Amino acid sequence: DHGLSEADPEVSSIIKKEKERQFKSLELIASENFTSRAVMEAVGSCLTNKYSEGLPGKRYYGGNEYIDELEILCQKRALAAFHLDEKKWGINVQPLSGSPANFEVYTAILNPHDRIMGLDLPHGGHLSHGFMTPKRRVSGTSIYFESMPYRLDESTGLVDYDMLEKTATLFRPKLIIAGASAYPRDFDYARMRKHITYRIDTCWKIADAVGAFLMMDMAHISGLVAASVVANPFEYCDIVTTTTHKSLRGPRGGMIFFKKDPVLGVDLESAINNAVFPGLQGGPHNHTIGGLAVCLKHAQSPEFKAYQNQVVSNCRALANRLVELGYTLVSGGTDNHLVLVDLRPLGIDGARVEKILDMASITLNKNSVPGDKSALVPGGIRIGSPAMTTRGFKEKEFIAIADFIHEGVQIAIDAKGLVSGSSKLQEFLKFVVSSDFLLTDKVS
Ligand code: PLP
Repeated sequence: DHGLSEADPEVSSIIKKEKERQFKSLELIASENFTSRAVMEAVGSCLTNKYSEGLPGKRYYGGNEYIDELEILCQKRALAAFHLDEKKWGINVQPLSGSPANFEVYTAILNPHDRIMGLDLPHGGHLSHGFMTPKRRVSGTSIYFESMPYRLDESTGLVDYDMLEKTATLFRPKLIIAGASAYPRDFDYARMRKHITYRIDTCWKIADAVGAFLMMDMAHISGLVAASVVANPFEYCDIVTTTTHKSLRGPRGGMIFFKKDPVLGVDLESAINNAVFPGLQGGPHNHTIGGLAVCLKHAQSPEFKAYQNQVVSNCRALANRLVELGYTLVSGGTDNHLVLVDLRPLGIDGARVEKILDMASITLNKNSVPGDKSALVPGGIRIGSPAMTTRGFKEKEFIAIADFIHEGVQIAIDAKGLVSGSSKLQEFLKFVVSSDFLLTDKVS
């Protein structure tokens, strides 16, 4: 049995190049992070060999005594990491990633074509919350369920709760989804619970029907939630889903937390567990569950709390410096791990800036900002602090990052305005900023 470099030099060399890229670049994609060596050891272990369809103690295959022990440990650590009472909250740690976790919740509690409301993708929401365009139902969620997105108030960059409330009262969704992929502020869960689901409950009681569930997809901020540096969605939500590989800094996977007591007459525990398996998945990825258990142990440590505080503090330093440099930030700033910069006042778009910064090994992503006319040429960039905070960066380094980004933006603006007859480098930059191959929309 050979090691990778001997058995497959081709793949081994690609991994080496990717490792070097990760090591050398300034990684600012808000949904990415560097997981620990301990997590990677568990993910690269013999756990990947085992089939274990079902739940601990109720498997469809033999030989699962250690896998049961592992999954129970992972569940317990997950509940502890999020300060949850085992009597009140249950968890499924088998979802393969964030999008499957969300779809599993939908199929657990909704019938096909039931109505849902999530934050619109161009306003910071995620595809899996029901994205559709006037021409096309893009996400599976919008194909199988009827989706009516809520949006931001474009003048403040904050969720327009008044409009959400009005629309929800008319649309009467069975599920309202909080959470986002590009929203720099906290959600007001209390408002979503008391004013939105309550009103719908009342409305639907009159119609002799059921009310709305409130779910939070905390994928981006789960590390911040575990460290209690942002608002706690568990106080108000019936169901909380998450990925495990963003601010939580674990392996690539997903989790679903659910209330143990029935909600709106639904036993969430059995509905969600059955939706995960046999509903939508087969055998759990036990190597991921192993890595997740390791991550969740770390998530309970004082170092993890200090790390998450640093993530927020670094992000704030970055935001403040960008404001000093004259940039417009959606919502004016940040309360979490990301900032969303509106580049439109500068006459440049996110696609060109992303490309220029990529050439300087600064990795971030172009992003829609509220009011964008075209999804193909988004007017902003999203910048996140979790990954470089893991690499040890503090406020001072994030201020320097803001200055680097500023230089990149200036180059993009200059290059866009160049006239012919300029130097080779300028010609190249001109080609880069003018070519259409940049203008594909990234929607994750
Ligand atoms: N939910 C949110 C809020 C996200 O931002 C993402 C991914 O970026 C997901 C779900 C989907 O996660 P995955 O890519 O693991 O399917």
